Amino acid sequence: MRLFLAIELPELSRHHFAVALDNLRRPWTNIRWVNAANLHLTLKFLGEVEDRAVAPLSDAIHQALRSPEPLQLQPDHAELLPPRGRLRVVAAGISGEVEPLRMLVDQIETACTGCGFRREHRPFRPHITLGRTRVPVPSSSRGALANDLQAYLPAPSFTVTSFSLIESHLGAGGSRYVRLADFPLAGG
Ligand code: ATP
Ligand code: MG
Repeated sequence: MRLFLAIELPELSRHHFAVALDNLRRPWTNIRWVNAANLHLTLKFLGEVEDRAVAPLSDAIHQALRSPEPLQLQPDHAELLPPRGRLRVVAAGISGEVEPLRMLVDQIETACTGCGFRREHRPFRPHITLGRTRVPVPSSSRGALANDLQAYLPAPSFTVTSFSLIESHLGAGGSRYVRLADFPLAGG
């Protein structure tokens, strides 16, 4: 199964971005906007994982979390990734308690590495993906796109009290996610 670890958005944030997505869909048809139900902040992409590897991985993550505390995050800026060259991802960049979030991701990486997963070497860039390009978007459109997205930013800040292990089912009509486990961030 295809798995990843992510923070799911609370209802208020989800609704905020659902409105943004509805309004961005019409003018920007060359972008495949995500389904609002799928909005998340990816912490670690695990890829294809065997069924029997899931329980040990969950245990290792639980054990690796050292006094995790809830985090306050705020989506506040447009991220068009990569910054140069062919645009692939349209996202809301995250501010707030990003350093504690990095430490959390580091603990997750250590747990996953201990279970045989490859460590992510690209720097962690917290973001909520809103859309992916389906055809090349001219670089001259980047400014207008960022501007249109900025109309919905900053989004409300939210408190992260848990993250989830999610199974992704890829499909022609968009991916479908199923939450398999929850990792609370309160009380250590
Ligand atoms: P689709 O690929 O059909 O657009 P999706 O991206 O929603 O669907 P997945 O590809 O399963 O679904 O990805 C799940 C999450 O993991 C997303 O946040 C995605 O950006 C992230 N992700 C996917 N592949 C990688 C990768 N190779 N490295 C890092 N993150 C990834
Ligand atoms: Mg994908």
